[in-house]
Amino acid sequence: MQLTDASGRKINYLRLSVTDRCNMRCRYCMPVTGVEKLPQNKILSYEQLFFAASCAVAEGIQKIRVTGGEPLVRKGILDFLSHLSTLPGLKQLALTTNGVLLAEMGPALKRAGVQRINISLDSLHPEVFTKITRRNELSRVLAGIATAERLDIPVKINMVVMRGINDSELVAFADLTRHKNYSVRFIEYMPANKEKGWQKLVVPGSEILERISASHDYMPIEKISLSGPAREYRITGAKGTIGLITALSGHFCDDCNRLRITASGKVKGCLFSDVDTDISALLRAGEPTPVRMALRALVGRKSVRHELTETVAGHKIFAMAGIGG
Ligand code: SAM
Ligand code: SF4
Repeated sequence: MQLTDASGRKINYLRLSVTDRCNMRCRYCMPVTGVEKLPQNKILSYEQLFFAASCAVAEGIQKIRVTGGEPLVRKGILDFLSHLSTLPGLKQLALTTNGVLLAEMGPALKRAGVQRINISLDSLHPEVFTKITRRNELSRVLAGIATAERLDIPVKINMVVMRGINDSELVAFADLTRHKNYSVRFIEYMPANKEKGWQKLVVPGSEILERISASHDYMPIEKISLSGPAREYRITGAKGTIGLITALSGHFCDDCNRLRITASGKVKGCLFSDVDTDISALLRAGEPTPVRMALRALVGRKSVRHELTETVAGHKIFAMAGIGG
């Protein structure tokens, strides 16, 4: 089975959000007070999440990334991941985390079958980190990264680049890949919550590369089939790689291979689109065929391109923590 959208893109990657709760309050993702929490009875049970994942895999999804909110704060996550990793046909199980609980949970995550971990890290300076995340947790996140590395779990670091806030650290983050096999992803800031003056925060991918090229030579790397929309490069002689997620400035949608299921059971073809399908009732009913048909229908309606630009955000405010990034 293969999910293919109307413009011929193969959809083989599912981002599965298991919670909208989080132990951080990143300014680009949540207001300081947090987002209004989904009522407990609106959040999919692990059984429903597993059923959704199994229907998606039966439709041709090969890679699942478990995300949130912060997935590691949901009780029972390790058992869920262990179960998910046994799903026949699933080629890759990955996790995105803010890293706060990674040092303590890393060994159990590895035993549960998590093959790759993306860790969000926006600054190497404690004050800047705390200003962005509103939590003083840099040392725990760095310990989490060290744990993943010790466990031989491939580490990807996601840095949301914001002008005047952390963009002075671009070269320092690129340097992390020189001696360690890290993959550092520079993510263009997205105006999810349309904070006032957000346009000034956006550093386009072209500028990010230009600023890194002032001190490093790098070469593009060929894409592999499950890698998604990032463009990747290797600094000459570096062990790791750098990558760009240029959600706003372009070169992004053509390679989109993603489908998203939110913690409350909405399927989304595009992060920025208001179009979604609520499959929670179908998941509760437990019949695979209607769920698979709903996934297929949503993929058929997946937008060719989002309409966000570096200066205009023509979307409703969306809760990144509920969708999973
Ligand atoms: N809590 C986990 C974490 O932070 O890694 C997983 C969920 S988080 C919503 C997933 C990803 O979305 C993170 O890498 C985060 O940096 C990114 N993200 C959230 N809001 C964003 C925004 N406004 N612009 C760009 N990336 C964003
Ligand atoms: Fe939490 Fe991740 Fe959102 Fe930060 S980006 S507030 S860690 S869900």
